[in-house]
Amino acid sequence: MRTSPSAPPHSNRAPQPRRPAPVGVDQPRIEAAVAEILAAIGEDPGRAGLASTPERVASAYAEFFAGLGQDPLDHLRDTVPVGDRTGELVLLRDIEFRSVCEHHLLPFLGTAHLAYLPGERIVGLGKLASVVTTLAARPQLQERLTEEIADTLETGLAPRGILVVLDASHGCVTTRGPRQTHSSTVTMASRGDLALPVARSEIIALIGGTQVVR
Ligand SMILES: [Zn+2]
Repeated sequence: MRTSPSAPPHSNRAPQPRRPAPVGVDQPRIEAAVAEILAAIGEDPGRAGLASTPERVASAYAEFFAGLGQDPLDHLRDTVPVGDRTGELVLLRDIEFRSVCEHHLLPFLGTAHLAYLPGERIVGLGKLASVVTTLAARPQLQERLTEEIADTLETGLAPRGILVVLDASHGCVTTRGPRQTHSSTVTMASRGDLALPVARSEIIALIGGTQVVR
């Protein structure tokens, strides 16, 4: 343990009143960067229509990336025991989410479907949606987001099985490059008993036709 009076006060449990977690995005820095981008495309960042654009973009980025520094497991702290009844399947369908692809910083929008076979504990359904929202509010890849949701449910609920299906439309595919305006990407992650093909088929039938938010 440090005892030097000149040591910075960042020992394990030291309170940090000036900078509570999570660390938010640095909005003034984003504003400066956006003004630079506008100049770089040959625009005049000072013209009337663009005068407030850096501020608006910074505000949007603060929203897009609000999940950075947040622990998605915090949503699963308040679980309740299943009790004597064996928990059957829990499936939450059509959770709308919005994320930003880390390759192009363009949005991708879609729906998530979360299924789990409870172990000894369950959690409020809204908390499942919050796990998705927190993990999506970061620079992401859909493939990794899918796995991270499954990992969080596995750690937080210790269920007997998990199936996560994401269906999303990517701005980097629909608006640039290939411009496939109607394409969507489906990704899936499974764990435990719900990794079995027969179980996955049953749940995918329950999910029905996937719908992408556009
Ligand atoms: Zn992309």
